[in-house]
Amino acid sequence: MDKAIFIDRDGVINKDFGGYISRPEDFKFIEGVIEALKNLNQREFKLIVITNQGGIAKGEYTEQDLESVHKKMVSLLENEGIRLTGIYYCPHHTSDNCDCRKPRTGMIEKAVKEHNIDPKKSFFIGDKTTDIQAGKDMGCMTFLVKTGYGGRDKICNVEPDFIVEDFFEASKRILEM
Ligand SMILES: [Mg+2]
Ligand SMILES: [Zn+2]
Repeated sequence: MDKAIFIDRDGVINKDFGGYISRPEDFKFIEGVIEALKNLNQREFKLIVITNQGGIAKGEYTEQDLESVHKKMVSLLENEGIRLTGIYYCPHHTSDNCDCRKPRTGMIEKAVKEHNIDPKKSFFIGDKTTDIQAGKDMGCMTFLVKTGYGGRDKICNVEPDFIVEDFFEASKRILEM
């Protein structure tokens, strides 16, 4: 079974401007992310994005808008030789009570099955406590980054395994293990 890095998107990979990222032009990488992804990819980690996109349920943007943002992200990464194994998103709102919206683990469970991943050899990197809760509930080692929300959502009462400045620092720590 393979090992993976499960990565939240907004506030970890790309800058979170406080609103929804619904247009490709709003998608901007956080410093160091490309290098970090490249290093992890070369060390045979599968890279999998796990993102809540509740703005879809709220009618703020459509799944097509989201696809266009992801198309941009994927093409910028491909230009750098970085391959994402998957992008999983939850389009629902909290009130939909779905199994996929983090802190629930539905998206990670799906990715684990579809890509033959051992979650116990894998990592979850996120900027919200909901990311950390989902990662922990799957048995992953968790990193909370100080970019984006930096844990200030305080939705879940959970301790990350590590607190780091940003995704680049998380990648360095993982590669040193
Ligand atoms: Mg986030
Ligand atoms: Zn959902």
